[in-house]
Amino acid sequence: MSGERLLQRPILGGVFGGDGRYALASMPCVSHGLYATRYMVVQPQAGVVLSVSEDKVQALALARECLNAANDKNLVEQVPAFQAELWPEEPLLTAMPASPTYVSRRRRAIFEQSKGHCHYCGACLELTGKWHIEHQLPRALGGGDDGLNLVAACVPCNLGKSDKTAIEFVSQGGRAE
Ligand SMILES: [Zn+2]
Repeated sequence: MSGERLLQRPILGGVFGGDGRYALASMPCVSHGLYATRYMVVQPQAGVVLSVSEDKVQALALARECLNAANDKNLVEQVPAFQAELWPEEPLLTAMPASPTYVSRRRRAIFEQSKGHCHYCGACLELTGKWHIEHQLPRALGGGDDGLNLVAACVPCNLGKSDKTAIEFVSQGGRAE
């Protein structure tokens, strides 16, 4: 439900131009046993990765060098093969396989806040197992994405709750509909 996302935003100006063709993408990773972020400068439409670094400024600088060297002509032919092949045809979001045991910082925080139990039925959850991040007050009713509105829920509770508010849900006996 909430897989790890490759976030990206367009880079405009300078050597990257003004047409939003290049994007700075970031994704969480683990580096030396610590959570870190990997930055990539990508050209999504061509499926090209210009640079990868754990430092945003360095990623941009490397990409700039790469573009300057290629003078932005025949870019796809000129970037090294290992870069061009990072994601050939798949869409960006599924390009990097998410590690099955990786738990994002946000997910971990919500898990700890819910003390490892389903917020609704109290079932024991496994941090790396299947559980959902739940909006106590559904988004449809104006619930936010902040930590206070987010709780851990087991799959049956999450599916049973849908767009009810948490109070309605619990008052109707939890997961049974
Ligand atoms: Zn539950």
